[in-house]
Amino acid sequence: MKIIQIKNWGFNIPDQRPIIISGPCSAETEEQVMQSCLGAAEQGASILRAGIWKPRTRPDSFEGVGEPALPWIKAAGKKTKLPIAIEVANAKHVELALNAEIDIFWIGARTSVNPFTIQEIAEALRGVDIPVLIKNPVNPDLELWIGAIERFYKVGINKMAAIHRGFSVYKPKPFRNLPMWEIPIELRRRIPNLEIICDPSHICGKRSLIQEVSQKALDLEFDGLMIETHVDPPNALSDAAQQFTPDDLGKLLNSLIQRNPVGDNPGFLANLEALRLDIDNIDSEVIQLIAKRMEVVNEIGKYKKENGVTILQMNRWTEIFDSRVMKTIEAGLSKEFAHAFIQCIHNESIREQTEVMNSSFSVKET
Ligand code: PEP
Ligand code: MN
Repeated sequence: MKIIQIKNWGFNIPDQRPIIISGPCSAETEEQVMQSCLGAAEQGASILRAGIWKPRTRPDSFEGVGEPALPWIKAAGKKTKLPIAIEVANAKHVELALNAEIDIFWIGARTSVNPFTIQEIAEALRGVDIPVLIKNPVNPDLELWIGAIERFYKVGINKMAAIHRGFSVYKPKPFRNLPMWEIPIELRRRIPNLEIICDPSHICGKRSLIQEVSQKALDLEFDGLMIETHVDPPNALSDAAQQFTPDDLGKLLNSLIQRNPVGDNPGFLANLEALRLDIDNIDSEVIQLIAKRMEVVNEIGKYKKENGVTILQMNRWTEIFDSRVMKTIEAGLSKEFAHAFIQCIHNESIREQTEVMNSSFSVKET
């Protein structure tokens, strides 16, 4: 897939990592959208977000202001000179949002699960040059996520990025949606040039977990973060527990450590590979040696059995323990490790010899 990277989408966005998408969960009032977006922009957001039509789990919740909120968001974009992203969930949303000249669309997790709806939205975008962010489906199904990405690509959308917002399971404590990091990591392996944004707000469901998940996303080389920011989170009409104030957003961004992606430095990578090869070789020697030791232990077990001798001779064990611990410490390893290591080897030796001793008695497992 020839996918165009976010920095080449034609917006005036600094080419820096992480890319920050921020703004309120829902557009509630003109003032709330403007203040939340201004705050997010001031704290470093490069793309603004707000939900116009809200997919809610239960009826009778706030389902978004809808069409009247489009000009509010547009105004926030104009004022901050930043592109604005909204969620579209059907062809009608697409039509209204295109007429309102919204800059970026995102596909929500409840939409990505349904190939009919994805196809309907994709058809409405055939021939349109607009970036689309595709959230993972609510269920942990990588093929379905990739399928949604392919459907947009096939109608000509090539400005794309994925959003990882976690996966829905029954009681997914402590998160609202389980991160299951292996899924976006496998997406990266399958479509390496597709940028992936992490959405810690919807993964966590509560503010206190967001810093930790954001840092983890950066350490896993995600390209950006989508963080919900609201001027007055406790009174937000949706997702009140997970939204940050603009100040919180600033604190979060200041706290994040951007470590170097290994791929930028080929010399480092080559050295790392050489060292890892050493480790691989040493580990296989250690394993072979321990297996060899166990063969001798097995021999001794047979010998003890023939001579009617017990497995454990306490003075021999005391001598082994003391001398091996000393040698381990002399070799520069810690006392704690020495104790645990010798104990572990000894336990396995006893297990091996017990098996030898009892080898004439066996019952079949059913
Ligand atoms: C949102 O971003 O506000 C939203 C509804 O997200 P999701 O589709 O990930 O639940
Ligand atoms: Mn939300």
